[in-house]
Amino acid sequence: MAEFDLIARIAARSGGRADVPLGIGDDAALLVPPPGQQLVACCDTLNAGVHFPLDAAAADIGWKALAVNLSDLAAMGATPAWALLSLALPEADAGFIEGFLDGFDALATPAGIALVGGDTTHGPLSVTITALGLVPTGMALRRAGARVGDVVCVSGTLGDAAAALHLLQRQVEADTPAVQALRERLCRPQPRLALGLALRGKANAAIDVSDGLLADLGHIARASHVGIELEASALPCSMHVAALYGASHVLHFQATGGDDYELAFTLPPERFESLQSELAGQGVGITRIGHVVAGSGVVLRDAQGTRLHFGHQGWEHFSGASA
Ligand code: ADP
Ligand code: MG
Repeated sequence: MAEFDLIARIAARSGGRADVPLGIGDDAALLVPPPGQQLVACCDTLNAGVHFPLDAAAADIGWKALAVNLSDLAAMGATPAWALLSLALPEADAGFIEGFLDGFDALATPAGIALVGGDTTHGPLSVTITALGLVPTGMALRRAGARVGDVVCVSGTLGDAAAALHLLQRQVEADTPAVQALRERLCRPQPRLALGLALRGKANAAIDVSDGLLADLGHIARASHVGIELEASALPCSMHVAALYGASHVLHFQATGGDDYELAFTLPPERFESLQSELAGQGVGITRIGHVVAGSGVVLRDAQGTRLHFGHQGWEHFSGASA
């Protein structure tokens, strides 16, 4: 199958937004951003064997490649609008493309994001998505902005994806509900788009947890010129991780594991309770895990107040260290 045929298959399944006068098929797409909104742009690459296993299902790759980008838009408080897809494929495999698009569409359609262009090349499997979103001018959530006295919060549960990876690396084949649920968290992360919107005008700083809680909160601390104190016993944990691992493994996954794609954010303490009940109505749980202090860095303490140390704070490319 030729590159043109692959692109035709992709084009046949793209579209769905009125603000795309020209999508796939020309040299570039034409998009119409609404007045009063800022364009929010991000880009993330997934490489086979690094970001997903070589034998990953095509649909899972399509889902996750989009999910990691939507998570970045969520962390900015943006509404998804348009996406560009750059694919390097070892062979022109129509089955792979259809599976990939099944996973991509399963997330793109409910998120309201339209595929408007991309590039298709020959090479080791790699997927790069550029996602474009919209936010009312001046309303984007940023890493800078955390204030001393803010509470630090996180959505959902932490450590599920890291636990799933741990099981995968140990080739645990068990198909119990707990193992399945964790695998789902790793392969099909749910970007926190509704939460990102709810945080507009309320959170002082936000980030998505992609590399590990300590590492990602470290970015907020640095950008905001503050310190962050976290309480280990407050970190939210799923019943699935708790069913499979002891406390010290769990804490390690929660603090340093990547790939959860929850949002971590800070806000004045008086805003927490109303936000929590507003979000509970949408099925999104948020938990207070610490507070912002004067100083620098992120410190995690146990119930006795003793500082806990980890060998590394999260996933970093080129360092060779993984969570
Ligand atoms: P050009 O040579 O001008 O870069 P291409 O032949 O690469 O054009 O692409 C033709 C059209 O198909 C363009 O509109 C491009 O955005 C789109 N396209 C190519 N690859 C992809 C892809 N993987 N996903 C979505 N659109 C794609
Ligand atoms: Mg091209």
